Amino acid sequence: MPQILVLVEHSQGKLTTVTGELLAAAARLGEPSAVLVGRPGIGDSLMAELGALGALHVYVAEADAADTLLVTPAVAALDAAAKAAGAVGGVLITASIAGRETAARLSVRLDAGLINDAVDLESTDGGIVATMQALGGAFTVRAAAKSLPIVTIRPHAITGAAPAAEAQRINVDVDLDAAPAAQITAVHAEATATDRPDLMSASVIVSGGRGLGSRENFALVEQLADVFGAAVGASRAAVDADYCDHNMQVGQTGVTVSPDLYIALGISGAIQHRAGMQSAKTIVVINKDADAPLFEVADFGVVGDLFTVVPQLIEAVRAR
Ligand code: FAD
Repeated sequence: MPQILVLVEHSQGKLTTVTGELLAAAARLGEPSAVLVGRPGIGDSLMAELGALGALHVYVAEADAADTLLVTPAVAALDAAAKAAGAVGGVLITASIAGRETAARLSVRLDAGLINDAVDLESTDGGIVATMQALGGAFTVRAAAKSLPIVTIRPHAITGAAPAAEAQRINVDVDLDAAPAAQITAVHAEATATDRPDLMSASVIVSGGRGLGSRENFALVEQLADVFGAAVGASRAAVDADYCDHNMQVGQTGVTVSPDLYIALGISGAIQHRAGMQSAKTIVVINKDADAPLFEVADFGVVGDLFTVVPQLIEAVRAR
């Protein structure tokens, strides 16, 4: 079976949940192999956990500058791992902003095919086939690459887990100093202080739009999110009006999400917003306009004033 390389995501020494999702996807397609890049010592600290998530091989690239050089180390490590592995059937990377850039650079370097923002993957006689949304979510297409497929996958789109494995460590050398992108370095990384789950990988998201009317009123979105233990998202109109921070924007120019449950409050459903959330498994829409386009993709809808409906919903959930 060919190896399927998975770029490991970690933050402050801990694996993020998407790594398990990517390894589960890789196990459907071939031998799951993790590619881990970070500062010296990262291999020792994460090997056992990666084995438990199903990695049969862990390619470890350690370098002092690994955390400060943005995407360059990941590209170099994936390139080195692909060469060390020999028969590689595909490369899987999270469809984050950094993940997309990593995938694009790697596809040029390896002269490989690139499929972005997949929500499902299957192995066929013709190779890996990815399901993805195109043209702002207007079409669902199945795509295959003519050469080695490099696929970015939407967080939370793939469920299940790979069987635990006895991971074998393989060290790979990466020459980061030779990379032209070393001219740009990250000097300071600051995690947003929040007890809420990460927006991209959350299983429940409550999002607010222009219908909230003000930053003060946007607190209602946060209150509903907190009773569900959910992440908070927003439309671009809400972000532009400064009701909330820009890193909460869901959509074409924000983050793409695939939660189990997406609750939209006062969001009309422009194509650019739908592009980022319509692969959610269950969509609930609360809007006072019965003709709001977001109702077209809703599983459950409430036509009503959100300032009346949402406090009742919060009470009802708290009472359960
Ligand atoms: P509106 O369209 O103004 O809708 C507000 C809704 O709130 C209405 O449906 C209204 O009926 C409802 N409402 C009002 N008051 C209440 C109430 N009291 N109770 C219940 N309902 C109420 N948008 C994104 O979201 N994400 C993107 O990534 C994005 N990228 C873009 C990229 C480009 C290139 C462009 C051109 C646009 C992009 N947009 C994006 C903007 C997008 O086109 C819409 O303008 C935006 O999504 C609208 O946000 P909204 O639904 O919150 O506001």
